[in-house]
Amino acid sequence: MTVHSTAAPPTVAESRFNALLDAAVDAIILIDERGHLTRFNPAAQRMFGYAEAEVAGRNVLMLMPEPYRSQHDGYIHRYASTGERRIIGIGREVEAQRKDGGTFPIDLSVGEFRAGADHGFVGIIRDLTERKARTRETEDLRGRLAHVGRLGTLGEMVSGIAHEVNQPLTAISNYASACRRMVQAGTASGAELAGALDKIGAQAERAGQVIRGLRALVRRRDEQREPLDCNQLIRDVATLVEFDVRQAGFRLVLKLVEPLPATVGDAVQIQQVVLNLIRNGLDAMLEKATGDTLEVETAVADGKVEIRVTDSGPGLGAAALEHLFEPFFTTKPQGIGLGLSICKSIVGAHRGELRGESAPAGGARFRVRLPIGEDE
Ligand code: ADP
Repeated sequence: MTVHSTAAPPTVAESRFNALLDAAVDAIILIDERGHLTRFNPAAQRMFGYAEAEVAGRNVLMLMPEPYRSQHDGYIHRYASTGERRIIGIGREVEAQRKDGGTFPIDLSVGEFRAGADHGFVGIIRDLTERKARTRETEDLRGRLAHVGRLGTLGEMVSGIAHEVNQPLTAISNYASACRRMVQAGTASGAELAGALDKIGAQAERAGQVIRGLRALVRRRDEQREPLDCNQLIRDVATLVEFDVRQAGFRLVLKLVEPLPATVGDAVQIQQVVLNLIRNGLDAMLEKATGDTLEVETAVADGKVEIRVTDSGPGLGAAALEHLFEPFFTTKPQGIGLGLSICKSIVGAHRGELRGESAPAGGARFRVRLPIGEDE
């Protein structure tokens, strides 16, 4: 029997109870001892797509897909005969079924009530669809982040290339020492020396191939000249790093001026620059945080598009200010010291400038200035 269908006018307590059910944001359903629905509040009606009249008196199983449906009947019977609680008093994540047959994840908590002769159960239901979607999105982002990490930091790429070049150079040096020893000892035949020199030549050729491959790579990327919306490019990078920044307990704040004139260049390369600057800022804050914001701004300054990355780390010391853009300058235990020098050369290739300075609040600030794109 529903409270609504009571013939007598509702008491004050009943009116309050009805108002509470109507106002509740969560779906609230009441069932009697046998599992028949006695109340179905407006939030439940919205969530499941049934009007209260459609469900009144029907078995609550109609709101569950299999296998929960079969399990639930079991729960009620077992509870009635043995008092064993399977779900009462505990919240659980289960699946629910809408009128249109669609299923969705819910958090269900069930309580038992006794009011005079009335005995039944109240279920409070929260739709988890959105939360699940958010979790998936986060996982998705983490995946993309890992991808960018692999592609990654310019430093890693260059250190891979350096390794490739280093191997033939080491071999050349070894063969050269061997030749020298043979010549000094006067033991080497002309043929032996020629063989060693051939090997030196082959190794030098191999090193040359690596360098040529690298130049081809750079040339190919240089050809990518397109109008760039730096705001959009920053938003894309932000989605990739936001999770890591938040995970570290910091905030990534974007202050993007609109409209921002377009600049021209290679989106991926400029993204790499912004990504490296943000990562450096995050590294600095992880080492010593003087605040919790990592800010990325855009502006138009001196007729150029300016991207500013300002962190709340310890700032730039005298040594850093002097050597910042030099290859292999690093103060990090795992650092390679190539990130900023590559950033500088990318920005230079875009006819722009990259500068690092101390921020007024104490952290470091990096400014990338890029020319406003002409109509080509
Ligand atoms: P790496 O990150 O491998 O050290 P980089 O060229 O990117 O190489 O940076 C070189 C050095 O510049 C860092 O090791 C650090 O000492 C300094 N640096 C770069 N960015 C910052 C920053 N945001 N705050 C403080 N120091 C920085």
